[in-house]
Amino acid sequence: MRIGAHVDPAEPLAEAAARGADLIQFFLTDPQGWIDPVDRDDAEALRSAETDVYIHAPYRINVASSNNRIRIPSRKLLFSHAAGAAKVGAKGIIVHGGHVEKADGLAAGFDNWRKTFAYAADQGGFATPVLIENTAGGDNACARRFDNLARLWDAIGDYEVGFCLDTCHAFAGGENLLDIVDRVKAITGRIDLIHANNSRDGFDSGRDRHDNMTAGEIDPELIVAVIRAAGAPALVETPGGAEGQTADINYLRERLA
Ligand SMILES: [Zn+2]
Repeated sequence: MRIGAHVDPAEPLAEAAARGADLIQFFLTDPQGWIDPVDRDDAEALRSAETDVYIHAPYRINVASSNNRIRIPSRKLLFSHAAGAAKVGAKGIIVHGGHVEKADGLAAGFDNWRKTFAYAADQGGFATPVLIENTAGGDNACARRFDNLARLWDAIGDYEVGFCLDTCHAFAGGENLLDIVDRVKAITGRIDLIHANNSRDGFDSGRDRHDNMTAGEIDPELIVAVIRAAGAPALVETPGGAEGQTADINYLRERLA
């Protein structure tokens, strides 16, 4: 089972070595900005590394939005980051499921997701597989509760689209981790990546604050069980820098062995 971490983008391969990570995830730009990625000097090194690379899309992206001034630039930004991710040999680009402004806008939000894949298909498709990640908060989220996730997949399932399951987001979002892999796979048919995070906040709190494996509100054995059941690579997005994340990686490896 391959285990890794979300790391700082300055020297991701050095960060991988510091943690003994099999895979790394990082941002290509400031995650709070609307910025297209630029070519990286270490692109060739990243492409040829034994470490698997994943790219997280900027947080601003919300392709479900009913607001044209958010939705259209979101589509373009996801497309440009998927292209940037391909240049570093990424196995996937992770993007949050997004949300709509009003509860009665969800149907349009799911259709906006469909249009995002149609927009990309018109240009030859996304350069890197898109993995949609479940989110923790909000009342009108496309991928917080799995009844909505099922509606989302009804809209986009004909396209090649992957899924990233975040254990903190699921727990804080109000989805029980016990049988979660079966419930996700019944909807998406696949889990491509696990974001293995504990949660500083309680079940269904709607808050998105990650914690280290043995520190949060989730029984860490449940996180281990999710990774095992999914049979997918996992990475931690946990605090404490290299030291905290190495401890989390080692915890997971020991229990998955
Ligand atoms: Zn995550």
